[in-house]
Formats: sequence, structure tokens, C-alpha cells
Amino acid sequence: MTRLSIRWKLTLWYGGVLAAVLVAFGMSVFLMMRGHLLARTDLELDEELHELGMEVSFAHDEADLRDQLQRRFGTHESFVFQVARPDGQAFFRSDDLKGNPLPVPDVASRGPRDVYETSPVPALGDHRIASRFLQGPGSPLVIQVAAPLAPYRKELNAFLLMLMSVGPVCVAGALGGGYLLARKAMTPVERMTAMAEQISAEQLERRLEVPNPQDELGRLAMTLNRMIDRLARSINEMRQFTADAAHELRTPLAVLRTEAEVALRAARSADEYRRVVEATLEETNRLTALADQLLQLCRHEGGLNTDLSEEVRLDALLMDVADQIRQSARQKNVSIDVGAFEPWTVEGNDVRLSQLLFNLLDNAVKYTPSGGTVSVEGACKDGQVEISVQDTGIGISPEHLPHIFKRFYRVDESRTGDRGGTGLGLAICKAVVDAHHGRISVESEVGRGTRVTVVLSALPTSPAAFALAEQAPVELSTAQQ
Ligand code: ADP
Repeated sequence: MTRLSIRWKLTLWYGGVLAAVLVAFGMSVFLMMRGHLLARTDLELDEELHELGMEVSFAHDEADLRDQLQRRFGTHESFVFQVARPDGQAFFRSDDLKGNPLPVPDVASRGPRDVYETSPVPALGDHRIASRFLQGPGSPLVIQVAAPLAPYRKELNAFLLMLMSVGPVCVAGALGGGYLLARKAMTPVERMTAMAEQISAEQLERRLEVPNPQDELGRLAMTLNRMIDRLARSINEMRQFTADAAHELRTPLAVLRTEAEVALRAARSADEYRRVVEATLEETNRLTALADQLLQLCRHEGGLNTDLSEEVRLDALLMDVADQIRQSARQKNVSIDVGAFEPWTVEGNDVRLSQLLFNLLDNAVKYTPSGGTVSVEGACKDGQVEISVQDTGIGISPEHLPHIFKRFYRVDESRTGDRGGTGLGLAICKAVVDAHHGRISVESEVGRGTRVTVVLSALPTSPAAFALAEQAPVELSTAQQ
């Protein structure tokens, strides 16, 4: 059954259900008909029983009664009659019953009610027999009228035959009709399949036809179209990303190549070769950093090998990252001011979260001139940890703010003095925050500074974490020059 097409399944279901309905209907009509025919026979027997009873009741003596019965009930085309004494001894029988007596029920003990029963009569076949107990002219008598069941059965059999011959024809018709209906219903699905098969990565601008947006297939087509929209967007983003990445790789490679070519053009002194090797190393470092960041971004966005269910102490992570940044901050004469925090626990991945904090602090130091300050503030309320990294640096102008989380977006490479970063740092931050179902936002004023705020869901801090914090509180207040 599972291998059958939907069209055949629908057809068979349709045929099966119709056949069941027809059988149930046929059976109930047959039973009703049988009951009705039997009731009609019983009614006719009752009328005859009444006639016979009148005759018995008005008779003066038994001899007279016998004559009278023979005259009126001796022969009858539809019924046979019998009058017997309660012990079964015959008093009168119509001609057909001579030698084939009707069985006499024990009517006397059953009270005044008439008895109707179906019983075989020797040589005459099954009969419906009505019996009544009454007082005769001499003694009590049992009067009986019987009708053969053969005509009644013939009528029933004819009806059954009709049902059995019409039923299969109806089922066959239903199967044919069901097949046509199912085929008609499946035609749009097949058209949709054919259209969907033509849509490939190269033809993502094509969409499925939506003949009627209100019906089930229309809704399916719209859902598929929306899925293709999303796929097209992802594929375009991927293409753009690959193109940008290739472009970013070309610049350091071109610098490397130029340096090497220039160096080889003439004989150079040892110092000159040293300078070339140093420049080459610098470019190689840039390439390595770029490759690392590209890899990080792919991991975050693809969710690769990232366990996001660790319990991470964000306050401790912040202290570690601040320690790592302190060296470069000292070189730039930028002070880092980190408050004393409560123990905050979030669910996530500590490597990714430390990359996030590192990128934010690194940017803050990178874009803050000598003498400036980077301060980190944090609070935990309503089940959320909010960390903001504030600097007194060069700031970002409003037209750039909406774009700075995009990959490879850099505001102005000349501002940092060197060729600047890769433009991937904040894109990585956003990917990490998204993966942790958090929020990241930035406020900035040119010449005054920038504040980046990250909000993450806090885990209810475990008592163990509190005890730990009380033993060794995280104190990172004001630091260094
Ligand atoms: P980059 O590697 O160039 O720093 P990011 O993605 O980290 O790339 O940042 C994108 C751009 O946003 C940077 O080029 C920089 O101009 C700007 N930016 C980021 N952080 C700050 C900040 N704290 N102060 C001023 N500008 C910033």
C-alpha cells in the first residue's frame, strides 16, 4: 500500500469506503424488507385466523362445525387451515394438509396470546403458522392458519440478487470515477513538481505558479516560493561573501607579490632584503588573521561544532579577556576600566563568548587615540545580563552605523593609521550573539566615543557560583597605563 501513488491510494480508499457504505445500506434494506414481508404475512394470517375463529365461535355443534369448515376452508389458494384439539388430535384440516399435519404448539399453556412461528411442514416445506386457542362448541380447540414461505423467500432472493448485481457495478463505477477525480486533483501537484524540478541554483529567480492562493495547493506553492526566496537570498549572500573574501585575499597577496617582484628586480643589500622579509611577514600575518576570522565566521554562522549548552561565567571571561587586551592598550596609552561584577552565568559556549568580548574590547582600544579610556559596565536584571563596552575614541558617523555589523564593512581605513582590520570583527560578534539568542547594539558619536551593548539571557546563578564568588570576588577595577 505504501508503494502506491497517492492517486491510486485515493481511488482505493474511495472505492473501499463506497463498497462498505453500499454493503451496510444493502444489508439494512434487506433486513427491513425481510421484516416487512414477514409482518405482511402475519397480518394476512391474522385476518384468516379471525375468519376461522368466527366460524368456530358461532358453531352449534362439532359436526356442524366440521361441515362448515370443510365448505369454507377446505381449499384455499394461499393458505392452509387446521383445527385440532389441544392434545394435537386433528379436528379439521384443509385438503392440502391431509397427511401433512401442522405442528400444534402448546397454545393452552401460553395464555390468550396468538402464536406465530416458522416451521417446516412435511412435504410442503417451511410455513409461517399462526395459532390461537379458543373455546369450540364441544371442547377447547386450537385453530391454525399457515402460509407457505416459498413465495416470500422468492421475493427476498430476487431482491438480494438485485443488490448483489447492482452493488459491484456501483463500486466499479466509483473506482473509475474516483480514479478520474484523483487524477484531476493530482494534476496541479504534478505540474508543480515539474516546475520545481526546473528550479535550480542557477535559476533561482523562477517561482511556482499560484493559480488559487486560497486553496491547499496554492498555499503549498506559496510556502515553497517563500522557501525558494530564502534559499535565493542565502545563495546570493554566500556568493557575495565568497566574492568579498576573494577580494580581501587578493590585496595582501598583491602586496606580497609586488614586494617580492621589486626585491628581485635588482641586487639588494642585506638590510633591504630584511625589510622585504619583514613586510612579507606582516602581510602573511594579515592573511592568517583574515583566514582565522573567515573560519570563525563560517563556524558561527553555520553553527559548526559549537556546543551552546555550557554554563559560562561571563564575569570571569571578561576578566580574562581584559587581561589579554591590557598589553596592547598599554602600548597605545589607553586605560581599561572594568567594574567589579556579580557572578553572572549564561548558557553558551565560552570560546565563542570570549571571542565576542575580545573583539569588542579590541575594537574599543583600536579606535581610541592615546590618552583615552575604555570602560566596561555590566548589570544583571530581569534574567538578562547586559554588558556595555564604552570608549572615548573616534566614534562612528550615523551613516555608517547601520552597516557596521556587515561582513567586510569598514568605515574608513585611513582612520586607524594602518590598513585597518578585516571588517569581520563585528560580523563575528553579531553571529555569536545571534547564536546565543541575544541582542547587540551600538551607539556612537563622532569624536566622542562609541558604546556597544550586548544583552544575553542569564541562567539563575547557582549557589555554588555565589559561594565561589564570595571566596574570590572578581575585582577588575581601574587599571594600568
Ligand atoms: P575591523 O576589523 O575593521 O575593526 P569590525 O567589524 O570590527 O572590523 O568593525 C567594522 C567597522 O566599525 C570598523 O572598520 C570601524 O570603522 C568601526 N568600528 C568598530 N568598532 C568601533 C569603535 N569602538 N569605535 C569606532 N569605530 C568602530
